[in-house]
Amino acid sequence: TRALQIRQLYKTYDNGHQALKGIDLEVQEGDFFALLGPNGAGKSTTIGIVSSLVNKTSGDVNIFGYDLDKDMSRAKRQLGVVPQEINFNQFEKTQDIVITQAGYYGISANEASARTELYLKKLGLWDKRNVQSRMLSGGMKRRLMIARALVHEPRLLILDEPTAGVDIELRRSLWEFLREINGKGTTVILTTHYLEEAEQLCRNIAIIDQGTIVENTSMRALLGKL
Ligand code: ADP
Ligand code: ADP
Repeated sequence: TRALQIRQLYKTYDNGHQALKGIDLEVQEGDFFALLGPNGAGKSTTIGIVSSLVNKTSGDVNIFGYDLDKDMSRAKRQLGVVPQEINFNQFEKTQDIVITQAGYYGISANEASARTELYLKKLGLWDKRNVQSRMLSGGMKRRLMIARALVHEPRLLILDEPTAGVDIELRRSLWEFLREINGKGTTVILTTHYLEEAEQLCRNIAIIDQGTIVENTSMRALLGKL
């Protein structure tokens, strides 16, 4: 099964900047996939379009067989996204941010509480459940974004630069966590500008530069070339 298929994706921003110039990408179910590229390459734009936060100019996005235009709610149900920037309400309590998200997916109150407890515990945030999220450290906020993205148990998790600006210890524990959920069957895609991160985690990789995919191969084959 294909977890994600992107065909001929173009994005020109309102200021005329052409950020994506015909991206094609396919990620199979169960994969751990890296989208690697320098700053400004188009990674966040691609993630933004897949998560319906950015309007595409043209092209098709399909998530587990659901077309993002024709079947948006089903497509979105398969998908959890961890954006780069913190976008939760910082005056809301840690646990309420996750519970509210569960509500958007129609998850019952009991189930939402149970899952919130599970994911906050997994991510080391249970002790902070009653704290306003603005009081959390940067690394904790990042982990909260991951818990929120997982509460509806998506088959595909996409993370935009998940370890940017986090210290080495947290980076390693996030890597461990992502390996664990991928091991349990969740397809994981991350963007990074950091080859070591892709190398540590990912089986397959696409390299994006100036809005174009310049390489799309297995990690093993790429490392063989370097
Ligand atoms: P869309 O075409 O998806 O509606 P817009 O072109 O309207 O996107 O831009 C969305 C927001 O990003 C605007 O508020 C804009 O000010 C801001 N923005 C503009 N230029 C840049 C840039 N180079 N990098 C990041 N954000 C930008
Ligand atoms: P990356 O995530 O790889 O760093 P982005 O997708 O954020 O790259 O940006 C791709 C290009 O599009 C960059 O040149 C960036 O400045 C530009 N860009 C991003 N957002 C906007 C926007 N809202 N308006 C205009 N240009 C943008």
